[in-house]
Amino acid sequence: MQLYCPCGYAILVTGHWTGETYRLELRDASAGTQGETIARCPQCCRPLAAQDLERLPPAEFHWQPEVPEPKSAP
Ligand SMILES: [Zn+2]
Repeated sequence: MQLYCPCGYAILVTGHWTGETYRLELRDASAGTQGETIARCPQCCRPLAAQDLERLPPAEFHWQPEVPEPKSAP
């Protein structure tokens, strides 16, 4: 399942049954399921907890159109 950090970074969340408890593993979504588990967002460095993640990108991130950076006048 893919969730989003409040900063908009995509985090891949996988569940893992240890035999006693269900453990969630968080990974950088761009690294895929073979990536290393992470405890902090690679983008904003906030400590990540599955319950803090968003199911959808934050609205401002989702709706932000890709506008090319304005060229600075000389
Ligand atoms: Zn973040």
